[in-house]
Amino acid sequence: MFDTKVRLISMLGLLTIVVIFSLVLDYLRVLRRPVRLGLGVAVLGITAGFILTLNAVLPENHFYGPVFSEVQTSQKLVALTFDDGPYPPYTEQILDILKERQIPATFFVIGQNAAKYPDLIRRTVAEGHQLGNHTYNHVDLLKFDRQGIVEEIDKTNKVIAGIVGYAPHVMRPPHGFRDAVVMDIMAEYQLTVVEWSVASRDWVNPGAGVIADRTLSKVKNGSVILLHDGDGIAGTAPRAQSVEATRLIIDKLLAQGYKFVTVDEILKIAED
Ligand SMILES: [Zn+2]
Repeated sequence: MFDTKVRLISMLGLLTIVVIFSLVLDYLRVLRRPVRLGLGVAVLGITAGFILTLNAVLPENHFYGPVFSEVQTSQKLVALTFDDGPYPPYTEQILDILKERQIPATFFVIGQNAAKYPDLIRRTVAEGHQLGNHTYNHVDLLKFDRQGIVEEIDKTNKVIAGIVGYAPHVMRPPHGFRDAVVMDIMAEYQLTVVEWSVASRDWVNPGAGVIADRTLSKVKNGSVILLHDGDGIAGTAPRAQSVEATRLIIDKLLAQGYKFVTVDEILKIAED
């Protein structure tokens, strides 16, 4: 585990300087004997930067701190999660599908969108779904300083609490991106960082059938499925394919005997 609270961007900056310096020494034929030490350090620096970045963007690793992405269980349980809403009419359409089948899900909402559509937030909670914090402006937290990250989280929790009377205790960083400082702040705010184990790139609208097939081919017991009812803060891209895919995914998984639970319920199994 990594617990010196250094930003990824600072480490990458430092490594870039080391790589350039080493390459210059190699070019000037310094540190070339008995082996090309300068070049070796440069290669190591590039590799380290690559690994540090991969660990910040891949959903299923704990390098910068513990995240939740799935649970190992023998029970046929899955958690559906929807990001970037609320976003009419797609959020309503997804809520309708869930209601018809009496299935709970978890919505990682953007604070700004929640402020715009408080009725959708109220409906989501009234129908038994869980809310998560997905930042106020859907920003890449790796590019924000500590204060900026705190503001994004705090403002979103306050908007949600203002609508439904309580703040979420789970959060998903936009794109899943985090580093040691992001994780430190989430721990301070007692927010569990929830990533995912099944993604279908539904946000590029590859077709409802493709989204459903990609998802269904990866689902297993304890999976956390990522889908999108929203489109960042832009709110321009249609989400009809994700809506239709949601229907296909649910019906197929129900037929296979899966039970749908919220993130909280699946987290509880992880703790047991
Ligand atoms: Zn998002």
